[in-house]
Amino acid sequence: MKFKFWGVRGSIPTPGPQTNKYGGNTTCIEIRTDNNDLIILDAGTGLHQLTQTLLPQMPINAHILITHTHWDHIHGLPFCTPIYIADNKLTIYGGQDLKTGEGIERTLKVQMQHSFFPIAEHELKADVSYKTVKAGEKFRIGEAVITPVLMNHPVINFGYRIDCDGKSLFFTGDYEPQLNIYEPDGSEYQNFQQMIDECADSLVQTIQGVDALIIDSSFTEAEYVHKKNWGHGTYSGALRLATQAKVKRLFFTHHEPTRTDAELDAIYAELLTNNQQMNCELIIAQEGVEVVL
Ligand SMILES: [Zn+2]
Ligand SMILES: [Zn+2]
Repeated sequence: MKFKFWGVRGSIPTPGPQTNKYGGNTTCIEIRTDNNDLIILDAGTGLHQLTQTLLPQMPINAHILITHTHWDHIHGLPFCTPIYIADNKLTIYGGQDLKTGEGIERTLKVQMQHSFFPIAEHELKADVSYKTVKAGEKFRIGEAVITPVLMNHPVINFGYRIDCDGKSLFFTGDYEPQLNIYEPDGSEYQNFQQMIDECADSLVQTIQGVDALIIDSSFTEAEYVHKKNWGHGTYSGALRLATQAKVKRLFFTHHEPTRTDAELDAIYAELLTNNQQMNCELIIAQEGVEVVL
């Protein structure tokens, strides 16, 4: 199994000279199993460039796992060229929207409403189908086993563990470890904290020993003080989880949109200096980089 980063930016695309090195496209990761099955994690703007490389391989059979439907994770869907070409098969997986009760099939229909896009979803030429995933309900794509895990974020959001070819990876989507919403001296605090701790333990068990953890690391600790409950994680939170779960390689991603290459380089140097004893390889996710597990 191998994977390639096509988008590593959070929130909004950030093209320009200050982001050339790490990349400005929003979240998209291509996974290829040893059988060459194609699994795509999230459909941010990186999906567009990925799909350009698929055109010579058509007809394609792609499985797109959507963590959640915030724009930076779905923006590329209407620009996924193979959906307009007959004989291609695309299956889009995602959660059920808690407010509307509708599944992931709603996403493209809304994105392609007449006011927002010149082509309607029902005009797609490819065989596009939708599957609603549920927390903990494993499913297969070829030889790969996918485990969706509910992750804390302002909308329903799944992390995905993928096991295939004797290797494993976990991608969090957007993720902020749950904070206790009660005051420490309040009667509800203990019960809520117990729930938080159980969820955290369960997450550690689910990702235990994965070959790669790809995790939302939007903020430094100093930034996070002002951005609690925005739904995003920190570098130190990622290090903590990677240590607890004994992961082999840790990829920091969902780079904050104002973060320049120089700033990411400086953060990386500090991470390496401060974590020399860590039994895990630390890597800043970078657009265009392919990783063989
Ligand atoms: Zn995001
Ligand atoms: Zn989000």
